[in-house]
Amino acid sequence: MRVHALNLVAGTSACNARCPFCISKMTPKNGICLKARKINLRNLKKACTLAKMSGAATIKITGKGEPTLYPWQITEYLKAIKEFNFPLIELQTNGILLAQQWKKYLPYLNQWYNLGLNTIIISIVHYDAEKNRQLFLPHEKQYTDLPELIAQLHNLGFSIRLSCILVNGFICGKKEAGRLIRFAKNSNVEQLTLIPVTVPKETGNSPIVLWAKKHALKTAQGKEIRNYLEKQGHRLMELPHGGVIYDLNGQNICIADCLTTPKDMRIRHLIFFPDGHIRYDWQYKGAVIL
Ligand code: SF4
Repeated sequence: MRVHALNLVAGTSACNARCPFCISKMTPKNGICLKARKINLRNLKKACTLAKMSGAATIKITGKGEPTLYPWQITEYLKAIKEFNFPLIELQTNGILLAQQWKKYLPYLNQWYNLGLNTIIISIVHYDAEKNRQLFLPHEKQYTDLPELIAQLHNLGFSIRLSCILVNGFICGKKEAGRLIRFAKNSNVEQLTLIPVTVPKETGNSPIVLWAKKHALKTAQGKEIRNYLEKQGHRLMELPHGGVIYDLNGQNICIADCLTTPKDMRIRHLIFFPDGHIRYDWQYKGAVIL
């Protein structure tokens, strides 16, 4: 078995954003509810050992909600995995709390940096603040100052990956993709990932699924962005799960999808849940190791 990364699920199902496409709400809860639970440290060590034996170099702290709502749990994870010396440790967040409560989060961020965290992955849908507000914070008047947050995190020593969900009406063609790439470059963002909004199979017809289906990129839109990257960029690498990495004028861009594709029978990542379960697919409950 060869895996790329070990995902650690932090926090609860709570989130401060209200994305209408929330993939977390389209996949099984797998024991994640509104109450934060103690991490099963014994099984976490097993997950780390298994990931290392399977060739994983990356740990990604992520969530079924927003992990930064529970900063103490992120610290607990980072302390527990330290002995395994994974070279790449990432935190996925919508970044909103970090920006809104910078003073509160600064000591945590410094501690996380010292515990080995190297990359902060910030989820977005656009380079424009109002567009991000419309989907992440429709209940609030303002989104955050993203360039300022990126600069502050850079100052602390973190690398930044912007993870942009491609939604019809937002980033959905080469013109907008080009502007997003320029925004990333001007903000000195190390990595930019483009992920078409996804609807997992067998998810029923909840409002989130219906919204995601309605706002998924049309085949021609997806093709336009991929052709643009092929023509304007330099293909650097193909990832085993189908993602492709490009360089475009010095900007790193990966175009990917966020669920294991049906044709891909290899294990892409291990997923550790705080209750001690180790899984390898977000969607299928049967994809469980222990
Ligand atoms: S930030 Fe992530 S977890 Fe929160 S609502 Fe949006 S997609 Fe869901």
